[in-house]
Amino acid sequence: SPAPGPKPIRRLEESLINRIAAGEIIQRPASALKELLENSLDAGSTSIRVTVKEGGLKLLQIQDNGCGIRKDDLHILAERFTTSKLSTFEDLSRITTYGFRGEALASMSHVAHLSVITKTKSSPAAWEASYIDGVLVDPRTRQPGEPKVCAGNDGTTIIIKDLFYNTPTRLQALRNTSEEYSRILDVITKYAIHNPKVSFSCKKATSASLDITTPASKTVSQAIRLLYGHSISTQLLEATISSRDHKISSKDDEDEDAMDVDLPKGPTTWSAEIHFNRLVESQRIKRSLEAVYHGVLPKGTSPFIYLSLEIDPRCVDVNVHPTKREVHFLNEEEITERIADAMQQKLAAQGQSRTFEYQT
Ligand code: ADP
Ligand code: MG
Repeated sequence: SPAPGPKPIRRLEESLINRIAAGEIIQRPASALKELLENSLDAGSTSIRVTVKEGGLKLLQIQDNGCGIRKDDLHILAERFTTSKLSTFEDLSRITTYGFRGEALASMSHVAHLSVITKTKSSPAAWEASYIDGVLVDPRTRQPGEPKVCAGNDGTTIIIKDLFYNTPTRLQALRNTSEEYSRILDVITKYAIHNPKVSFSCKKATSASLDITTPASKTVSQAIRLLYGHSISTQLLEATISSRDHKISSKDDEDEDAMDVDLPKGPTTWSAEIHFNRLVESQRIKRSLEAVYHGVLPKGTSPFIYLSLEIDPRCVDVNVHPTKREVHFLNEEEITERIADAMQQKLAAQGQSRTFEYQT
């Protein structure tokens, strides 16, 4: 029998479009937190405190001491594609902030109850604003509203409540709150290592004790010791490579361009992270480093690697995916090869005697 005739094409409701887009960016509490951490870091914060209830599903609160948000900007803060970080297409090729798409807060307002308390240095008071589906609302009536004056310190507090309250299937899939909490701790740990000048803390709202706490003004190695423990940090090998040809810029900070290689005793999970001042994944680099370690480490173990790549922003395409988890960069193959070679040499020179110890 012949195929049925085509159905009419309709325009999706705007609220549906926004909720679908939000689901792509905010997949779970940890992905919301990633966006919020990046905003706090973009705002120049030196202190970031995170409070969590029920794995972030009930409450995710992040308080920073950054530049704050101007009261006049609060009306459009949670609209899609509103940002202070980008204005022309050309800006994309020299972007140095984590954010630029202006979608994170908007997304959160479409899948959670979002409130913001913020104060800039020049403002005499703090302002509070609540958002539903991109719109600044009065939290009681849920009708369009105005920011309310309140007490507060310089900086911004973002409060996300009841994440995925309006997307029940997503909520169903995230019932294991301790799993979600450990993912939250993992995200904070990664950003804390890469931003050692910033003090981070994280706790459950129901507990007095901090699960993560790092002071400001330290080095990457000190941050690794604090977060992963003394035994890992003392076993780190450090390697630095730079190349003008490949536009890996020379480093000004001791740690920035460093490659730390560790050979732990027991089996650990693979944790190669690549930062372009942003946290990204690269299967190509992972695979090639795995190959380097293949013959060196005992079976069933994998190395702890902190890999920080500094690449000229003009050579990186950050606009590949809405979560910016993936980026493309020039000379990817050559750069990967150079890193693997350097690590091979480092291991040959310093690592082998130590590896030998572990195997006995
Ligand atoms: P993006 O980071 O891509 O610009 P977001 O939706 O994450 O988009 O944030 C929108 C805007 O809100 C940012 O451009 C910034 O101006 C402001 N903002 C968000 N979080 C903070 C914060 N913690 N401190 C200061 N400004 C913030
Ligand atoms: Mg952002």
